[in-house]
Amino acid sequence: MSEGVYGEQATGRVTHGLLRLSTAMRSQAWEWAEGAGLTPTQGEILVLLMQRRGPMRLGEIARETALTAATTSDAVSTLEGKGLVEKRRALDDGRALAVRLTARGRTAAKKALVWPEFLSKAVGTLKADEQTQLYRSLLKTIRQLEVVQQIPPHRMCLSCTHLEASKNPKKTPHHCTLLNIDMADTDLRLDCSVYEEGDLSKQKKNWKIFAQVA
Ligand code: SF4
Repeated sequence: MSEGVYGEQATGRVTHGLLRLSTAMRSQAWEWAEGAGLTPTQGEILVLLMQRRGPMRLGEIARETALTAATTSDAVSTLEGKGLVEKRRALDDGRALAVRLTARGRTAAKKALVWPEFLSKAVGTLKADEQTQLYRSLLKTIRQLEVVQQIPPHRMCLSCTHLEASKNPKKTPHHCTLLNIDMADTDLRLDCSVYEEGDLSKQKKNWKIFAQVA
């Protein structure tokens, strides 16, 4: 890729940097997946099911992974054929099918968590303040992509009804009223199993406070 192809401004440089990271992630994900006899998509579905700690419907999996219904259905059928997931009638709707991990699937999902380690190691070389700033910037970028509906909404603290965001998290941490825990910026969750979506005014308030912190 020639230098400056995404523009010479900061936006172009950052975009170029993120694209280089995504290339590295794709290649590492494929390397891991080939070794495990899966595709990266199948690995992602296993990890999602493990994070949710319960059955998920096909539509939910498709929404969370931003895959088409057909791709999700194919991937889940392949995982079922390998004995890594099973389909059962959903408890709340006998006509719908819910997908859940088998014991072998849980083991495979734990192994699938390992491939991004190369990235964790690189992030670990940054200073604590740099990690915090990077995480804050990532959260804001993810939020912006959600707002313009280019990625599905995340079950994250800043959109949750239980978060009391802090104007000065270095001095007074954010607070989760449900779990009764204080949270620094880097404790804010991106995918919480007990998340409850806040109403629009609550979400707006928390994001506004978060965005204002220098
Ligand atoms: S319930 Fe979960 S998502 Fe909501 S504020 Fe607490 S930790 Fe964050």
